Amino acid sequence: MPRVVVKTSSYDYKQLKPNIHSLLEEFVGSAVSPGKVIVIKPNFLAPATPESAILTNPFVVRAVVEYVLEKGAKPVIADSQAVGSFSRILKTGGFATALEGLDVEFREFRRSVLVDIGEPFGKIEMAADALEADVLINLPKLKTHCQMLLTLGVKNLFGCIVGLRKPEWHLRAGVDRDMFARLLVQIYAVVKPSVTILDGILAMQGQGPGRSGKPRELNVLMASDNALALDMAVCRMFGLGPDELPTNRMASKMGLVPEYHIEGQLPQIDDFRLPLMIPLVFGPRRFHKFLRKYVTQRPVVKAALCRSCGECSKYCPAKAITPEKNCVVFDYDKCIRCYCCIEVCPHGALETKDTLAGKAFRKMFKS
Ligand code: SF4
Ligand code: SF4
Repeated sequence: MPRVVVKTSSYDYKQLKPNIHSLLEEFVGSAVSPGKVIVIKPNFLAPATPESAILTNPFVVRAVVEYVLEKGAKPVIADSQAVGSFSRILKTGGFATALEGLDVEFREFRRSVLVDIGEPFGKIEMAADALEADVLINLPKLKTHCQMLLTLGVKNLFGCIVGLRKPEWHLRAGVDRDMFARLLVQIYAVVKPSVTILDGILAMQGQGPGRSGKPRELNVLMASDNALALDMAVCRMFGLGPDELPTNRMASKMGLVPEYHIEGQLPQIDDFRLPLMIPLVFGPRRFHKFLRKYVTQRPVVKAALCRSCGECSKYCPAKAITPEKNCVVFDYDKCIRCYCCIEVCPHGALETKDTLAGKAFRKMFKS
């Protein structure tokens, strides 16, 4: 039966390092050995400081790297960021400084291999480094996510889809929450990290996963060899039902939900602010285009915050955003309401807004 181990911790390195090392020893102690390649997969969404709680804390990553080095194995820190350059993430996120002097390789996931993750998705291109690692250590950040409620152990592995393939998958699956959840669960089932250690010391609540979310100290580290079990334990910590997280719900439908037990004291946090979930398309398929255009919330720009950096338009899978001199303009006929732009805007300048028809619909159907 999978175990979820819970520890109280701060980022004070004297406390953090032994906590991380004991979690690693429990779950991968015998697998991390001389000559092995250990791929460490943090959350590298976009360039962001540690205080913003968007990325896995650099000292959590350092503690893992030191453990791997002490065991004589080769640590590789790898991810495929959603926005910005990999080198900027290392600098802004404090990774370059925190890991200075350690014999570690930073590697952006670039090389992909075709892997059959099962119906209905079939073969998809995934990061070869993640799949070929002797041991994969998954290091998610505990954050809210306005499409998927929370981004935890399972969702963190979406980064194993390489670079620009991610928005393509958002385009294909991201407008249907259950389909997207299924994609995430199937990716997890194939990638299967050896251990997942969740950084919930400084978590994010509110409208995550980007800058619209708010940091919140929870002082929790959790680890498990089963990321689904870990995600379920987090939901229990917040008083959420087992089916409220879309990936848990989908895993349950697929018969993948594990029995698990918790070791350590799981805190009860009843006032964690969850995001207002962005409604996705609903109703009969033939009405989807109409509903998407007139009923679902639209991405809109807060002009005062927009710095015209162009990240949103680069990432938009539908090419629905045109950068203008001081702002951006949306083509709502093209926009598929995947909300990737909101996720990647580095300045928190985008939000969703109800249409009049959408407000009326939601009132009618209380959605
Ligand atoms: S909305 Fe955000 S990502 Fe898009 S150009 Fe403005 S600041 Fe950049
Ligand atoms: S404008 Fe935003 S929500 Fe619309 S398709 Fe582009 S990225 Fe998705």
